[in-house]
This record gives sequence, C-alpha cells and structure tokens, in this order.
Amino acid sequence: MDERRAQLFALARATKGFMPDAEGEALYAAALDAGRSVAHATLVEVGAWCGKSTLYLAAAAEATGSVVLSVDHHHGSEEQQEGWEHFDPELVDPRDGRLNTLPTWQRTIGGAGLEGSVVGLVGESTTVASRVRPGLALCFIDGGHGAVPAWADYRAWTPLVAEGGLLCIHDVFEDPSEGGRPPYELYCEAIATGYDEVSRTGSLRVLRRRSAGGAGD
Ligand code: SAH
Ligand code: MG
Repeated sequence: MDERRAQLFALARATKGFMPDAEGEALYAAALDAGRSVAHATLVEVGAWCGKSTLYLAAAAEATGSVVLSVDHHHGSEEQQEGWEHFDPELVDPRDGRLNTLPTWQRTIGGAGLEGSVVGLVGESTTVASRVRPGLALCFIDGGHGAVPAWADYRAWTPLVAEGGLLCIHDVFEDPSEGGRPPYELYCEAIATGYDEVSRTGSLRVLRRRSAGGAGD
C-alpha cells in the first residue's frame, strides 16, 4: 500500500504539470478523506493537463475504491497557448497545430495502471458539469484561471458538491503579486457562502461544504 503510494507519488513528480509535490500530497490526503467518507465516492478534477494532479487524486481513489472523473478539453488554457508563459511546444499536435495534452494524459494514467480508478471526460468543463449528478465527495478546481472560466467552473461545479464534501481550489494567492485573482476570489466566495477551510498547503485550499442544517457536520 505504502509502496504503491510511493510509486504513484514518484510518477506524479516525474509528470509534466503545475502541482508542487507538497500540494499534490495535500490533494491526495483530501481525496483519501473524501474517498473514505462514503462508499463508491465520486471525485472530480477540473483541469488535468498531462495528468500530474490526476495521479494524486487517482492514488487515493484506488486506495478507497472511488472513481475520479477527470475533466479537460485538453487544448490548454489561455496562459498555455503559444506566446504565453506556460506554452510547451512538445504538446502541440503537428497535424493541426493545436495544443493536445490528451495523448500524454492517457499515457500517464495507463502507465500508472490507474485506468480502473479514473475516467477521462474530454470536453468543455461547464458542458460536462451540466450532465454530472450531484453528490460529489470532492471537486478539485484547476481549469482556466481567467475570471470568466474560473467563475464559470465555480458556478457549474460547486452545486454538485455533497454536503460534507470537499472543494479544493488551486492557485489561491492572497497576495496579488504572487498570482492572478480569480482563484482567490472563488475561495473567498466559498468561505462566505457555506464552506469551512480544512487545510492550506502552498496555493491549495481544501474546504468542506457545510450541511444545510447549520454548524459543522
Ligand atoms: N491540474 C493540472 C494543471 C491544469 S492546467 C496539473 O496538476 O498539472 C489547466 C487545464 O485546464 C488545462 O489542461 C486546460 O486544457 C484545462 N481547461 C481550461 N479551461 C477549460 C474549460 N473551459 N473546459 C475544460 N478544460 C479546460
Ligand atoms: Mg493549478
């Protein structure tokens, strides 16, 4: 068990992406908590890229018998396109010149032997959300970071989080000199409207949805 976890963490560290080790491990811990909270838990990832954060979530899913729905159109966010900060020419499909992280993501998940614990959903995040049932044990939001996509994700996905379920938001920076505002604004909105903070690691915030009945769970 510990050996398998160590193996998957090592794979995650070697995978391209935007998830520092400590934050990935905190995400894993949150997913383990969510996976244990209910039988057959469903965990959602919004923003997969090459599968780095997916591996942390899937390691916990495998350990708890839950399933990760990993959502991404796999064509990259604005800041990952050519000419922008996080552009990676190795991820461009030579046939059409578009960024395509799906083959890499598939190799990541397949290579880790995690195809039984992860389902890739390739498409626009809000369209996928509109077809997913509520009751998510965990939702990790790490898709487009501009104001429009980030708020669209928040509005589409947070109603699907179960009471007592976890909402994880990445790239939350209190200090504007460290990063963009939208993820921080989403975090503030969640705190103001029914979520309690469970943990913070780097820019990852783990929040728990309060029960409608009132205090705690
Ligand atoms: N979690 C990843 C990083 C995600 S980067 C890691 O740990 O490395 C953000 C991802 O969100 C990109 O892969 C991009 O394609 C995806 N994305 C951005 N906007 C999206 C949208 N509207 N619908 C689906 N995916 C989107
Ligand atoms: Mg991120």
